[in-house]
Amino acid sequence: METILFLSPADAAHSKNSLEALAAAKQLASSLGTTFSVGLWGESPQADAIATCGAAKFFVVAGAEFSQPRYATDAAAAEALARAAGATIVVGPACSRWNRILAGVAHRLGGRSDSHVTGLSISEGAPAIARWYYRQRMEGILSRTQRPWVLAVESGIAPAWTGAPGSAEVEAVACAPAGVRTKVAGIETLAADQQTIRPDADLLFVTGAGWTKKQPDGQVKVEDAQKRILDFLRLSRASLGSTKSLVDLSGEGQATLAFLTHMNQVGQTGSTPRHPKGLATCCHGEEPHTVGWRFIGERRAISLDPNCGWARGKADFLYVADAFAVMEKVNALLEKTP
Ligand SMILES: Cc1cc2nc3c(=O)[nH]c(=O)nc-3n(C[C@H](O)[C@H](O)[C@H](O)COP(=O)(O)OP(=O)(O)OC[C@H]3O[C@@H](n4cnc5c(N)ncnc54)[C@H](O)[C@@H]3O)c2cc1C
Repeated sequence: METILFLSPADAAHSKNSLEALAAAKQLASSLGTTFSVGLWGESPQADAIATCGAAKFFVVAGAEFSQPRYATDAAAAEALARAAGATIVVGPACSRWNRILAGVAHRLGGRSDSHVTGLSISEGAPAIARWYYRQRMEGILSRTQRPWVLAVESGIAPAWTGAPGSAEVEAVACAPAGVRTKVAGIETLAADQQTIRPDADLLFVTGAGWTKKQPDGQVKVEDAQKRILDFLRLSRASLGSTKSLVDLSGEGQATLAFLTHMNQVGQTGSTPRHPKGLATCCHGEEPHTVGWRFIGERRAISLDPNCGWARGKADFLYVADAFAVMEKVNALLEKTP
């Protein structure tokens, strides 16, 4: 009989990725005909917001030292919670804190870990996970005999758990982390408008090299492009993806869009994000339209080229139009939208 534990740092427990991992753990327990528990750690973790999720038990590790993201305290807390729950399968969200400690926690518990998990199921009577290989071109379903099996579940692969808050009875777990040397001096984050990668956004907006190319009137309009794209991101809160050609331009010293980095690149050698919708603009390449869009629900593209095989073949809607004109109009409409 498997014992399933959903684990998360308490301050991330209500994030979309966490609630999705919680739903995935709950579903796995139900498929196995067993119960599941919740483990949270933080300064004074509360489980009331997820009290009605159906967990049999709520375990917490509490203390000021557990509020900060730090390997030594995060790993010690997760290990203590997994031991207290007697977990054979530990499921956490693929957030930076869980990804960082996943392998170490599995090692301490004498188990195995798998990251980038995109599905939990039962295969031949045993719990199994899905993972993508070869740049997201092949999906593998695998199971392991070693326990505990410690998993990091990717964002966007399960509907997030929703339910009424309640009053959760929590069981305190003792944890005294040893060898804590790292002091967290503070956290520096980009201003919200500078942060263009937004995994939780409903829309992925992909920019291609066409934005920086000579336009039909013979002019290069990088400033205009920059304004239209940034205005659209501000108004729509979309996440920004880019083709490789466009992000590579900056390395070649050509006129380019200042806010793009290789972190924005989607495709074979970039990322394959999961958003309900995607809009590709000024792109011709295979990668943005196939690999980069692999997990996008509804796909649209704006291109001047009516013969672009990738846009025609892979987009649900292709607008054969000037993206400068279209995005100007879209932004004007969005400005008027309350
Ligand atoms: C090993 C390898 C790995 C690669 N990995 C990746 C990857 O991970 N991701 C990736 O993106 N690429 C990758 N590439 C590159 C990829 O093959 C393409 O070269 C690249 O994606 C093309 O970029 P693009 O569509 O931005 O530019 P282009 O091919 O230059 O297309 C620009 C398009 O913009 C259109 N356009 C111009 N002006 C306008 C306008 N005003 N309105 C509308 N449309 C307009 C043009 O008609 C054209 O179709 C890889 C290549 C290799 C060899």
